[in-house]
Amino acid sequence: MRIGSGHDLHRFGPGDHVMLGGVRIAHDRGLVAHSDGDVVLHALMDALLGAAGAGDIGQHFPDSDARWAGADSRVLLREVGRMIASRGFEIANCDVTLVAEAPRIAGHREAMCANIAADLALERSRVNVKATTAEGLGALGRGEGVAAHAVVLLLAGDSA
Ligand code: MG
Repeated sequence: MRIGSGHDLHRFGPGDHVMLGGVRIAHDRGLVAHSDGDVVLHALMDALLGAAGAGDIGQHFPDSDARWAGADSRVLLREVGRMIASRGFEIANCDVTLVAEAPRIAGHREAMCANIAADLALERSRVNVKATTAEGLGALGRGEGVAAHAVVLLLAGDSA
């Protein structure tokens, strides 16, 4: 078994929606990012790559590469899923925590889990997305951005 963790943070900027867990959520601001700024999927991808010993998303999808400008993070997640599988790993489970004062995601959580399960070809029961606030403390507490943490467990195949 292999464990991996991921973390990501993006600041708010102009916009009328955010992408979180592949779900478009209407909001009074957007997230500043080279891609779509989906911290849930970015943290998850880093956890997957970390568990597999395969680097991080910055290495595979660099900011400096115009190919990833405005990228749909679900496309990147599917690519990471293929990398994991090609290295002989199976995903036991993944757990993501969003840290945000806003937007509230309770009504979107199931859609996020469904997106992740579909993109990684996993049973829905192996995916969890939860959320908490920063209790008003620090930059996240002031609502200047959102962050996410992810933990993943991989089952090693014969090659690992
Ligand atoms: Mg990111």
